[in-house]
Amino acid sequence: MDYSIFGLLKNALTGNRLWAPVWRDPAPKQRYDTLIVGGGGHGLATAYYLAKEHGITDVAVLEKGYIGSGNVGRNTTIIRSNYLLPANTHFYEKSLQLWEGLEQDLNYNAMVSQRGVLNLFHSDAQRDAYARRGNAMRLAGVDADLLDAVTVRAMVPGIEMQDARFPVKGGLLQQRGGTVRHDAVAWGYARAADRRGADILQNTEVTGIRVEAGRVLGVETTRGFIGARRIGLAAAGHSSRVAAMAGLRLPIESHVLQAFVSEAVKPLLDTVVTFGAGHFYVSQSDKGGLVFGGDIDGYNSYAQRGSLPVVEEVMECAVTLFPAFSRLRYLRQWGGVMDMSMDGSPIIDRTPVEGLFLNCGWCYGGFKATPASGWCFAHTIATGQPHPLNAAFRLDRFATGAVLDEKGAGARPNLH
Ligand SMILES: Cc1cc2nc3c(=O)[nH]c(=O)nc-3n(C[C@H](O)[C@H](O)[C@H](O)COP(=O)(O)OP(=O)(O)OC[C@H]3O[C@@H](n4cnc5c(N)ncnc54)[C@H](O)[C@@H]3O)c2cc1C
Repeated sequence: MDYSIFGLLKNALTGNRLWAPVWRDPAPKQRYDTLIVGGGGHGLATAYYLAKEHGITDVAVLEKGYIGSGNVGRNTTIIRSNYLLPANTHFYEKSLQLWEGLEQDLNYNAMVSQRGVLNLFHSDAQRDAYARRGNAMRLAGVDADLLDAVTVRAMVPGIEMQDARFPVKGGLLQQRGGTVRHDAVAWGYARAADRRGADILQNTEVTGIRVEAGRVLGVETTRGFIGARRIGLAAAGHSSRVAAMAGLRLPIESHVLQAFVSEAVKPLLDTVVTFGAGHFYVSQSDKGGLVFGGDIDGYNSYAQRGSLPVVEEVMECAVTLFPAFSRLRYLRQWGGVMDMSMDGSPIIDRTPVEGLFLNCGWCYGGFKATPASGWCFAHTIATGQPHPLNAAFRLDRFATGAVLDEKGAGARPNLH
């Protein structure tokens, strides 16, 4: 079923009773060529690009819950490619380019909105660091503009500029950054992968990985054993636990990250703004709610809910930056389990177990990576070799020292 104005009209006139299921609900086969563990954005995108780019359609995506129940449906929807290190810049720029054509590619409205991402700076030293990052982006062919305080004030009138504890001195703008409706991304990729032949198996938890003589044979699941020649792990916050089933110990810690939405108000913020003097970012959703995010909670956890100190901290940042927000009521809050790598950059690679591939370490920023992550992971699985775009995202970089420490923060998950 393709979406069109005619389908919409037909259903509008018939009480919305004629919509067909968006993807099938097949019974698991005994064996597949390739299994993807994790039906989040990255797992579903991988299944889609395996079929589209490499003609591999004998694929199942195994999801322990329902599609969209993980971080893909819990994030604050920000996309951008404003990185400093070349490996990150080129990878995230590929992702942004895929976002730009995604809705046509999937025939699905993911509400891709290139409303701009503005990183505020509050000191001369921070301006220099942002100028350096902007120059690196431009050298890599990515758009970047360094704005002064007057331009920022005109662009985002609600920001406190005068009496601020951390006066805003300007900002680094990536105009092509913005937001995408997060759960539509999961649904769009699920539908597109299903249409190309992949089986999406919801409520199918992987409980073990069978390995013999150093190579994978398949997975144990809550619906029985499923054999496979190749297995790709894309379990985000549960990556360490799933990889441990194959005897791997990952350089990953699982932490909770929370998101907050206010009541809906009239349009007042038409870009994404990040605070440079604290960990805080905000945008306004198309429904009118302000969407806030902040730092991870200060302890390791697998709970999809957060603690109160972070709520307080995020609200403090919001009111410091936008005093008018003090009159808003906040409506909803939730948490997701983040796979924090020790240098803040992801891993897309083979593993020492033959036939087993790994995709994890997405930290705060894996949503914007979804298209490129699926694209690169599909390439790595299909060819057995990393694509040049993910060649630096190696698992062994923590042993060799070739880390990608974008912020120079060291092995401190809360600083990435
Ligand atoms: C509050 C919050 C805000 C965020 N904001 C942003 C943002 O603005 N921009 C951005 O780029 N990123 C953001 N992120 C990060 C981003 O959402 C994640 O990095 C990304 O979604 C992770 O990839 P995924 O979509 O595949 O993960 P998930 O959707 O979590 O998918 C992994 C799936 O694996 C499944 N799984 C786990 N174990 C098993 C098992 N044993 N068997 C079968 N299935 C299993 C899980 O149920 C889950 O559905 C945010 C995250 C959170 C929580």
